[in-house]
Amino acid sequence: MPCKLVIIGAGLGGLECGYLLARRGWQVTVLERHAVAGGCLQTFRRSNTTFDTGLHYVGGLGEGESLHALFDYFQLLDLPWRPLDRTGYDEIVTDGRSFLLPNGYDAWCEHLTSSFPHEQQGINTLMNLFRQTEQYLFSFLHPDSTEHQQTMQLFGISASEWLEQTIHDPLLRSVLSGNGLRIGLTDSTPLYAYAQIQGSYVRSAWRLGGGGQQIADRLVAGIRQQGGQVLTDVEVTGLEETNGRITAVKTAQRERYEADAVIAALHPQRLMPMLHDCPSVRKVYRHRVMQMKNTTGMFSLHIALRPGSLPYLNRTVYITGAQPLMIHSYPDRPALDILTPSAWSEWEQWADQRDEAYEAYKQRKAEECIRIAAQRLPDLPAAIEQVYTSTPLTYARYTGTVQGSAYGLQKDWHSPMTTLLATRTPLPNLWLTGQNNNLHGVLGVTMTALQTCNELTGESGWIEQIIQQQ
Ligand SMILES: Cc1cc2nc3c(=O)[nH]c(=O)nc-3n(C[C@H](O)[C@H](O)[C@H](O)COP(=O)(O)OP(=O)(O)OC[C@H]3O[C@@H](n4cnc5c(N)ncnc54)[C@H](O)[C@@H]3O)c2cc1C
Repeated sequence: MPCKLVIIGAGLGGLECGYLLARRGWQVTVLERHAVAGGCLQTFRRSNTTFDTGLHYVGGLGEGESLHALFDYFQLLDLPWRPLDRTGYDEIVTDGRSFLLPNGYDAWCEHLTSSFPHEQQGINTLMNLFRQTEQYLFSFLHPDSTEHQQTMQLFGISASEWLEQTIHDPLLRSVLSGNGLRIGLTDSTPLYAYAQIQGSYVRSAWRLGGGGQQIADRLVAGIRQQGGQVLTDVEVTGLEETNGRITAVKTAQRERYEADAVIAALHPQRLMPMLHDCPSVRKVYRHRVMQMKNTTGMFSLHIALRPGSLPYLNRTVYITGAQPLMIHSYPDRPALDILTPSAWSEWEQWADQRDEAYEAYKQRKAEECIRIAAQRLPDLPAAIEQVYTSTPLTYARYTGTVQGSAYGLQKDWHSPMTTLLATRTPLPNLWLTGQNNNLHGVLGVTMTALQTCNELTGESGWIEQIIQQQ
């Protein structure tokens, strides 16, 4: 029976749940602590240029692919999506050589096999895995299905060990993991995460002209059209429990929002302290969540270029090495982003106060990234008009992520049952959603939003109808 729903956090996960359930007749209120909705989808302006925070490209948006029907439902398909070069959506620069990854399972397979004919079998095996995980995409909606059991088995396998056993040539392994930055690839990464994310980009890859904020703005407008509300500058600080259920959400602004159900779409380690006064949430659960490891943060350079100085690059470039880089070119403005993984420990000394040493460290690090990027783009240094940087401290401040973690909680193949946080919680009307459950990224967060809403309503079939009807 639809009733009052409060959602904490207006990132992609919170907004998609809000949209789904507002259309289903629920009275939706989304509360966002920041001045702008969007979380990682936020954009910001510098040097008259709009830069993205945490969205560079998405996979699987082509017709008949995983995201297409869902983005149609969310009314996001007519945004200015730009396909990346199908003959090479990713370029991996490794060992002094460049390798292109083309779209389409067969083209991807043929192209890689032409460069690595001795690895034909391994390449085919990997492609079959991409196909298989694409078929398993909706298995989270059916936890008792064979597909879901097989998904969970893939969560219990190490991506890097599997690659090592399947692909014998170290150069090809380096190509296949060269874009691991987008996955947050580490020794902990489960094979499912690797295959699901990589496979979706093999199908097709898209940039959004104008930036990710448009996704958030569309979802906010959709929620409001259905009578829901999205309130910004409202920071949730606590939840009230009565007779084993959450009955209200309290805010730093000393307001109280009554709720029949709550979806927490923020980092779960931010949620746990808010449950302190909820007797049904035992200390052991809170402790377990608080002990979970986070993925690493990112150091990002947002570079305004002199107009006409550097041609637009319709692919994403990854440079492997001790300081791996991702280079993203903006389709509609002379600008580039360069991203590199960066641990919280590098920055935490400045968590309370930024000083000159912080600025100097950022500058040195930025110069090093530009030096590495210039291996592939020799004209870059001369083309730069202005460089802006963001560190894990910036992400922690603007998206509320813990330790500036880019992709939230680390999923670990060693113990999938404990590192895959369930969307259900010990309270029957409190649910989790977002990148910390299952998978990060636009596709992963969207799938989890479906799962959360499916479980919350307890009604069967309506999500499948959405998927099939589009
Ligand atoms: C640098 C970077 C690059 C990325 N690039 C890509 C990419 O190219 N493609 C892709 O698919 N994915 C990418 N991602 C991942 C993707 O952006 C995320 O997985 C996704 O947007 C996360 O959505 P979310 O709703 O789970 O969390 P978030 O976007 O983090 O949203 C959480 C929201 O909760 C709010 N909140 C926190 N505390 C409170 C509180 N107390 N009260 C109220 N609100 C609160 C926050 O302010 C925030 O708005 C990238 C991420 C990063 C960081």
